[in-house]
Amino acid sequence: MAKRKRIAVVGAGLGGLSAAIRLAINGYTVDLYEQGKSPGGKANQINENGFRFDTGPSLLTMPFVIKDLFENAGEIIEDYFEIIPLKNLCKYHYPDGTIINAYSDTEKFAEEISSKTKDTAQSVKKYLKYSEKIYELTADLFLFGDFSEPKNFISTKALNTLLQINKIDPFRTMHNANKSFFKDEKTIQLFDRYATYNGSDPFKAPATLNIIQHVEYNLGGYILNGGVYSLVNALYRLAQKKGVNFFFESKISRILHNDFSVNGITINRNGILEKKNYDTIISNADVNYSYKHLLDDNRSDSAVRYSKLEPSSSALVFYWGVKGKYDDLEIHNILFSSDYKKEFNDLFVKKVCPDDPTVYIYISSKYNSNDAPADHENWFVMINAPYVKNQNWEYEIEKSRKSIISKINSFLKVDIENKIVTEQVLTPEIIEKSTSSYRGSLYGISSNCKRAAL
Ligand SMILES: Cc1cc2nc3c(=O)[nH]c(=O)nc-3n(C[C@H](O)[C@H](O)[C@H](O)COP(=O)(O)OP(=O)(O)OC[C@H]3O[C@@H](n4cnc5c(N)ncnc54)[C@H](O)[C@@H]3O)c2cc1C
Repeated sequence: MAKRKRIAVVGAGLGGLSAAIRLAINGYTVDLYEQGKSPGGKANQINENGFRFDTGPSLLTMPFVIKDLFENAGEIIEDYFEIIPLKNLCKYHYPDGTIINAYSDTEKFAEEISSKTKDTAQSVKKYLKYSEKIYELTADLFLFGDFSEPKNFISTKALNTLLQINKIDPFRTMHNANKSFFKDEKTIQLFDRYATYNGSDPFKAPATLNIIQHVEYNLGGYILNGGVYSLVNALYRLAQKKGVNFFFESKISRILHNDFSVNGITINRNGILEKKNYDTIISNADVNYSYKHLLDDNRSDSAVRYSKLEPSSSALVFYWGVKGKYDDLEIHNILFSSDYKKEFNDLFVKKVCPDDPTVYIYISSKYNSNDAPADHENWFVMINAPYVKNQNWEYEIEKSRKSIISKINSFLKVDIENKIVTEQVLTPEIIEKSTSSYRGSLYGISSNCKRAAL
């Protein structure tokens, strides 16, 4: 009998866990190495004084991708965790007091836009059709396809997409496209926000990224019973059941290779180095970091190309245990800035935290009551932050904390500072250090140029 191929996976984030499961169910021997103490990567959790916080992602879309993974593994997803569709995807608060509820029922959402802005329900429906078309033309090729195979770009599907290239809207920015559909600045700002879903700037990113709105509105937004970390726990359990071997607190310091292929890794455990041979290595660590530090490669075409691309934005997050219940807030909330263009200029040109940031508040305890003690809520309060580039983070944290508190107080008519009973902070520097993400970016490389869509 042929020997099973041995594969090492670097990183037990959502990507590494999923890759390891797929490999294990296809008959490979899989060893998964994680430098941290637990699985999850950016999707981790904090438990403090009776509060539980998801540290990273907070909204689930495209659950069918996860269902497919479980089905392929011959498992019933409901045995592992429960996915709950959201009725209100996000409650948007504007500086002038307007509130727009992004209902997942698109008819209701279109009515909401028509009653709160100068735009019509019809324009929203037309816009969501446009977004759906981008998905139809690109999803199989780019979301579910294999980039590494040039032949996949010579298929009938690829040709069909190429013939309808204008419909995927790569030649104008997201903002310009949104302006062509809507009159009201509020509607435009709401849809421009989707650029931040991959850490980009809506005034620079190609309108092809307006695909995201189809994913959220037409396909739906979800939360998980038990929080996002229940997904990590589920994937961890599934991976163990399928035979994946886990090694925590094991940092890969090198991927060993000759001119043609990789053949092993060097593992650093508390300063002690160990070499191990493998047939294949999958690095689910950041791509720039993998080239620079794991392959020690600054010269190959791919290494040079990736190093020249602008990283995505990062985040500054305050995890606040808050006394009281706040009925004006939903699970997901946005308190918008008054000048979106300036906000992105601060982030990507000045590379500082915005003076007037858009504040995102995620409160999982509104659904999962165990996530906070009685009469309290767990607030995940996040602003977009620049990727790491010589900033003074102590100053940025202090400045941003003040502006966030002042915004929450004025929008929600509260005195939030006096209600905070626990606090932890996540900065771009911590993200970089704890997950090896290049310059602390959340999503790898940004899409702030036309080439991102072509
Ligand atoms: C604050 C925040 C908010 C976010 N919000 C959202 C959201 O709402 N929706 C969304 O879809 N996404 C969101 N994201 C992004 C999302 O978390 C990531 O896209 C996703 O978790 C990335 O998973 P990954 O497995 O690819 O990478 P990671 O989670 O970064 O995992 C990489 C893993 O590799 C490990 N590793 C790296 N180098 C080594 C090494 N040399 N040896 C061993 N291990 C190594 C790291 O420790 C880490 O565990 C957010 C992220 C953050 C931080």
